[in-house]
Amino acid sequence: MLDGSDSCRGGVCRSAAVSPQPAAPVVTSHCQGDTRIDCLCRGAATYAKVSYPQQYGIYAEIETAAAVMRFNPGGEIVYLRGKGRDWPHPQEWLKRTIGDDWIYYSTGGYSGVVEAIGEYYLPNTPYPTNSLLGGHPFELDAVTRLIESWPALLAEATARLLPQAPAAVRDFLARAGGCDPAVLRQRAEELFAIIGGRVTVLPPDARHVDYDLVPLHISEGCLYKCRFCRVKTERPYRDREWDEVERQIAALRRWFGGNTVNCNSLFLGEHDALAADPELIIAAIVRAREELGLGDSVMTGGNVFLFGSVDSLLHAPSRLFAELERLPCSVYINIGLESVDQETLDKLGKPLAAARVVEAFHRMQEINGNFERIEITANFVMDDLAAGHLPAMLQLLRDGVSRRRPKGSIYLSPLRIGRPSRSLVMDFYRLKTLSRLPTFLYIIQRL
Ligand code: SF4
Repeated sequence: MLDGSDSCRGGVCRSAAVSPQPAAPVVTSHCQGDTRIDCLCRGAATYAKVSYPQQYGIYAEIETAAAVMRFNPGGEIVYLRGKGRDWPHPQEWLKRTIGDDWIYYSTGGYSGVVEAIGEYYLPNTPYPTNSLLGGHPFELDAVTRLIESWPALLAEATARLLPQAPAAVRDFLARAGGCDPAVLRQRAEELFAIIGGRVTVLPPDARHVDYDLVPLHISEGCLYKCRFCRVKTERPYRDREWDEVERQIAALRRWFGGNTVNCNSLFLGEHDALAADPELIIAAIVRAREELGLGDSVMTGGNVFLFGSVDSLLHAPSRLFAELERLPCSVYINIGLESVDQETLDKLGKPLAAARVVEAFHRMQEINGNFERIEITANFVMDDLAAGHLPAMLQLLRDGVSRRRPKGSIYLSPLRIGRPSRSLVMDFYRLKTLSRLPTFLYIIQRL
């Protein structure tokens, strides 16, 4: 869109669509001095791993002398980038999630980030997480100032742009003006209430869609209540009733409104949706995709993300995977294996026998080999809690797989929170080199 030096004398221009695709909407632009708005911009329609900032889907952009702000079609702010000299890097930005968190995307100096996490940009969260990489962007004045000042910047831009703005711009500015921080916080709370609580952890595979997804809880809790786990709920595991799921989908449709135009993915919660009745899993995906229009999104393809466990994977009938494969979307199931060393499992308080974990690992390989659109991935803890953990894990990732495979990612999850560590990163690289499966660090993100 507009770079810092651009300005115009004021007025309205209707330009061709940003995207060359024939169905792309027409961008309505309006500028006044150094302030400009572009409504109905169209970003990339396919999620891609790229080493430059990429905006996806349909959005509106306002650029002033101080910042670039982007909004979803509902007028909610989703992106911020400062233009001052103190902004940390011209290719770094803030993204606001539907849970109302601001995430700072940093290049990490571009060195090693993509090898470590599979993405070119490193997400920095405003809450403590297990990332081994990154700095402290939320301690920088330029970053905190922009998070606090964007409503004032929007108000100034609106006052400047409104007098001669075309109807489409006026409508958009009215929508954006109605989405102040208090409204956005309230909206996030409404979302959490609809699904029955905040999503405390998203599967690592959700990185493939930059965590842009619709959350739908078809079950609650998990099977194990492991001692080490910080994200578990104390609720016993249960499938949700179908009428609860139907009501949730209807409420999600009202909550998202037209914003699902940018969303092609579903997260089935909570911590072990694979343990749910197979018929419930399939029916929920089909109904949610249909009701929420995920198949009609401007984003190509479609995805479903969910967590599973050793027992839910080993108990899941083959017909479930056959039916998932027939769906018009890709399905990513992330299993918490944690360790194949019994002493480590015991220290973690994970009530599992190591032999069951090995069995689940081999079932993963089987499913990944037999189904094209299903990918089962797994998490292991990164920390060496007992001497046998790393050797046993390495043996499985190297000798438990006959050759290098492009599918079935392994995510290594540090247990430590808020303590980045270069030496652990070096350990990770050694493991990654020896593993025959794609291996990455898991940075825990909530919704
Ligand atoms: S690690 Fe998974 S199974 Fe264990 S308590 Fe946490 S959510 Fe439950």
